[in-house]
Amino acid sequence: MRNRIYEILEYFKETGNYRSLKYIQPLSATKILYNSKEYLNLCSNSYLSLHVHPDVVNAARGSIDKYGAGTCSSRSVSGSMDLCKTLEHEIAEYKGYKSGLIFSNGYMANIGIVSTITQEGDVIFTDELNHSSLIDSTRLSRAKKVIYRHGDADDLEKKLKKDKTKGKKFILTESVFSMDGDIAPLREIYQLKEKYGVHIMLDDAHGTGVFGEKGTGVEELFGLSGRMDTHMATFGKALGSFGAFALADPVVIEFLINRARTFMYTTALPMSSLAASLASLRLIENNTSFKDELWRNIDYMRKNLLQAGFDLKNSAGPIVPIVVGEDKKTVKMQDLLMKKGLFLQAIRPPTVPEGASRLRLTIVRGFTMEDMDYAIESLIDIGRKTRLI
Ligand code: PMP
Repeated sequence: MRNRIYEILEYFKETGNYRSLKYIQPLSATKILYNSKEYLNLCSNSYLSLHVHPDVVNAARGSIDKYGAGTCSSRSVSGSMDLCKTLEHEIAEYKGYKSGLIFSNGYMANIGIVSTITQEGDVIFTDELNHSSLIDSTRLSRAKKVIYRHGDADDLEKKLKKDKTKGKKFILTESVFSMDGDIAPLREIYQLKEKYGVHIMLDDAHGTGVFGEKGTGVEELFGLSGRMDTHMATFGKALGSFGAFALADPVVIEFLINRARTFMYTTALPMSSLAASLASLRLIENNTSFKDELWRNIDYMRKNLLQAGFDLKNSAGPIVPIVVGEDKKTVKMQDLLMKKGLFLQAIRPPTVPEGASRLRLTIVRGFTMEDMDYAIESLIDIGRKTRLI
C-alpha cells in the first residue's frame, strides 16, 4: 500500500501534477504574506472582498459573545439556533424562493440535495464540466447518469429525447462554471424543463452576488429568478463567509430536513459564519455599489487581457481561465508569476480535463488600479515569454 502511494506521488511530481499546501497569512483584502514575502492574491473567490468588510467581521465577532465558538451538535438533534431561521428566510427572499435550508458547505449541500431528491429509476442529465461536488452527488444518488456536452442545450435535448427512463428526469448544472467562468444556457435549459417536464437543480455558487442587475445571481440575468426546482449557492464566495444553502418550495425543504444525510448527520455551522453571511447579505441586498465596483474591475482587466491577445474562452465575469495546456508549463508560469509577487495557482487535472491545465485568474472588487495594471503587465510579460500570446 505504502509503495503504491509512493509511486503515485512520484508520478505526480514527474508530470507536474503534484500539489502541496502553501501556508499564507492575510495582509488585506487582496494581499497575502507567503514565505515572508508579500503577494497580490489573484485567485480568491471573495469577489466582492466582503470577507474583511468591517460590518461582516464585527457581526461574526459579536455573535461569538452571544452564541459561543461552536454549535457542537446537529440541528435536528439538539435544537436549531434562531439565526439559522433568520438567514434562511432572508436569503430565500433575496433570491426569489419560498424556502431555504443552510448546509455546512457547498460540497455537502450538493451531495445532500441531489442524493435526496432523486431515487432509483430516475435519471440525471449532467453537464460534462460540472463541479466535483455535483459529480459526487450523482455518484451517491441511485439515479442513472447521462452526461451532456458542456453548455450544449442541443446535445442535452437530444439526450433527453433518446432517454427511455420511466422515472423522473433531473438536469444538473452550474450557472457560472467554476473553472471556465462561462455561463450555462439557462434560458434554453429552462425551455427544455417545460417541454420535457424535467426538474432543474442549479448551482449558483459563482453567480450569487455577482450577476444580474441586483446581483442576486445568474437566474436574474435570464428573468428566471426563483424559477428553478432546486437552487443552491454558497456563502463562501462573493458573500465572504462560509456555508451554503438550498432554496426550493417548502415541501422540498421539509424533505431535505427529513432525509438529506449531509444535513442531518453533521454539526451545525458556528453562528459566527451565519452572522457574517447575514451581514454580507444585508450589505448587498439594497446596495449594488459593491457589485458595480467589482464589474468596473472585471471590465478593465478583461479588456486589457483581450487586447494583449489572451484567449479568455467564453468566460464572462470574474473568473478568467488562462488555459496553458500542459501541467508542467502551467506550473512554470505560476512560478514566474510568484517571482513577480503574484499569487496565481496552477489548476490541473482532475480539477480540469487532461491537457487543459490553466491559471484561473479571479478578479475581485478590492483590486486597486495599481494592482490591476501590475497584474496585467506581468501576465503579458510572462505570456509572451512562454509564447502563450
Ligand atoms: N459548487 C461549485 C460550483 C463550487 O465552485 C464549489 C466550491 N469551489 C462548491 C460547489 C462547493 O462549495 P464549498 O466550497 O462551500 O464546499
